Amino acid sequence: MNNPCPCYLQIAIDTPLNAVFDYRWQCEDDQRPQVGQLALVPFARREVMGLIVGVAEATDVPVDKLKDALAVRSQLPPLSAKWLALAGFAADYYQRPLGEVALPGLPKNLRVLTTVALDRALKKLAKLETRHDPAPANMPVLNPQQQAAADAIGGAAGFTPSLLYGVTGSGKTEVYLQACAQVLAREPDGQILILVPEINLTPQLEGNIRARFPGVMLATLHSSLSEGERMLHWLAAHQGKARIVLGTRLAILASLPHLKLIVIDEEHDPSYKQQEGLRYSARDLAVWRAWQLQIPIVLGSATPSLETWHHAQSGRYRKLELRERAVQNAVLPQVKLIDMERDKPKDGLTSQLVAAIRQRMERGEQSLLFLNRRGYAPVICCESCGWISECTRCTSFMVLHRPEHRLRCHHCSLEMRIPRHCPTCGNVDLQPLGRGTQRVEEGLQALFPEARVLRIDADSTRKKGSAQEAFASVHRGEVDILVGTQMVAKGHDFKKLTLVGIMNPDTALFSQDYRASERLFAQLMQVAGRAGRAGMPSEVLVQTRYPQHPLYGAVVHHDYDHFASALLEEREQAALPPYLFQALLRAEARELATAIEFLTIARDCLQHPGITINDPIPMTMTRVYNVDRAQLLVESPSRPALQAFLKEWLHMLREMKSRVKWSLEVDPLDI
Ligand code: ADP
Ligand code: ZN
Ligand code: ZN
Repeated sequence: MNNPCPCYLQIAIDTPLNAVFDYRWQCEDDQRPQVGQLALVPFARREVMGLIVGVAEATDVPVDKLKDALAVRSQLPPLSAKWLALAGFAADYYQRPLGEVALPGLPKNLRVLTTVALDRALKKLAKLETRHDPAPANMPVLNPQQQAAADAIGGAAGFTPSLLYGVTGSGKTEVYLQACAQVLAREPDGQILILVPEINLTPQLEGNIRARFPGVMLATLHSSLSEGERMLHWLAAHQGKARIVLGTRLAILASLPHLKLIVIDEEHDPSYKQQEGLRYSARDLAVWRAWQLQIPIVLGSATPSLETWHHAQSGRYRKLELRERAVQNAVLPQVKLIDMERDKPKDGLTSQLVAAIRQRMERGEQSLLFLNRRGYAPVICCESCGWISECTRCTSFMVLHRPEHRLRCHHCSLEMRIPRHCPTCGNVDLQPLGRGTQRVEEGLQALFPEARVLRIDADSTRKKGSAQEAFASVHRGEVDILVGTQMVAKGHDFKKLTLVGIMNPDTALFSQDYRASERLFAQLMQVAGRAGRAGMPSEVLVQTRYPQHPLYGAVVHHDYDHFASALLEEREQAALPPYLFQALLRAEARELATAIEFLTIARDCLQHPGITINDPIPMTMTRVYNVDRAQLLVESPSRPALQAFLKEWLHMLREMKSRVKWSLEVDPLDI
């Protein structure tokens, strides 16, 4: 045995401190631990799972400070150097310690003290049949545009990023599946990663994949798996057994040793951005991962993000287009604007929209009403003294949830019973103001007593599996009128739906957020895209007070191209992303002044040429759960310059050891 023992393990731990620590390890047999394996170590009076990132003969840590690692999970094949480099890149780019990126990406059951769950999962996997038959079944004949796109993706070699720009219903899914078939046929061990923005879209696609590839092992990775399932699926991917991995954004950090193709469906969707902790963009990491492995990646959308569109225009991404709907005779819906000044809505519904719904009822077709606001009413008020239901902990209102008889704050989840009388003047007549999905549902049921109305939003689908069941009942035709939030707007292939009513999109037109119009446009095009997918003539009715607004004009003409190009031009002139790179430093404290003070010190502590540091400002929603929040925006036309600045700056901020809680977000979406 030529391994000198003990050896020293450099171990990344999930902590905001310095991420890598040295431990001593005594090899019991000839086997030396390997980089990429997990090791149980004592840390801050606990035992935690760490990731071995180095094995050394010596250490600088003095002997009396050095602790022993407790166990190495040698039954688990090590994470690959490529995977470690991916985690390393993410840590670097988003300015977080490696351990905070790498470890939370692993299944919880791998990080516990005992190996019971790991051993069980390994045993279960070993027993699974590994018959692998990449032959696809029941592949439909693609139309020429689809076929050309599938060949371009499936036949690509090396790092080839493509934008699959296809109108809603153009059959992008079939293009992905054909491209997958080509890759699986060509690469004997090849694995494919498919990401969807939302968990509710996984069952539909999972069904498609299983039907097409009956001989291929599919693993899914998303947040509603049980820990046992998550472990099993993660391992199946890690061992290379699962050839197709379908997941939500967290799956971008899956271990896939033979990854050969990445598919990002609905790439424009903001859900690809994690909004807490490590605020990464799964789409952006996916592009990096494809580059690292020199493999093709396809980003699909009917309304690409401006970042992606910009790359496609400049030729950095190849643009593959599907201009028509795939199903024979299916055309895009006719979009009409209803001027709410002329056709005054009653209970939120204009007479034209009501008539259109009635017509669908008579024909036995489905209608969808889209309203991006859940609850019954966003606020209740007292008309005699002007009291309104504000949250006592947040800069926001308590939302009325009538079926549950509660007022709820959607930001801090404060809840209370609906007050019987006004807390200030005692008036018993408290009125709901405005409307949410519950109120629309109630109004529709009153108007159409015979209709089967179904509401789908975060409230109606809290129970596990209930969202899936709700969507299934729409697909089975058991619903006449569907009311929902953005949950219903994305990706679903409803066959009998021929009318989409958009209730109140105007608020986003005048938002301060420069991304609001890009988002609103995408959302309207997406929800409109749910209508008429199976070939029946269909209609989209947009209720608005601003029918002249150019954004609605673009929606009426389904004109993403011009709209996007105009927006890009505006962004270029105003020096905004994607022509500028940003990072946002947020701080929170009991008092706003404390947060601002911290940010002011941060603003003044470092200057760099080419870096603009703006003044600290309170966040639009300043107070959440009794904490005041402020932010500081850093900008640069150069990404490398920004990255270099951030590295140095964060080091200084950490050294300040301020009691103020702060966090940094690179490429923020909400400013
Ligand atoms: P997208 O994701 O582009 O909005 P989908 O992939 O959901 O569109 O496809 C829309 C509909 O078109 C689906 O019902 C699908 O089965 C159908 N479809 C796709 N390709 C074809 C084809 N080549 N021939 C017939 N139907 C197709
Ligand atoms: Zn009152
Ligand atoms: Zn609150």
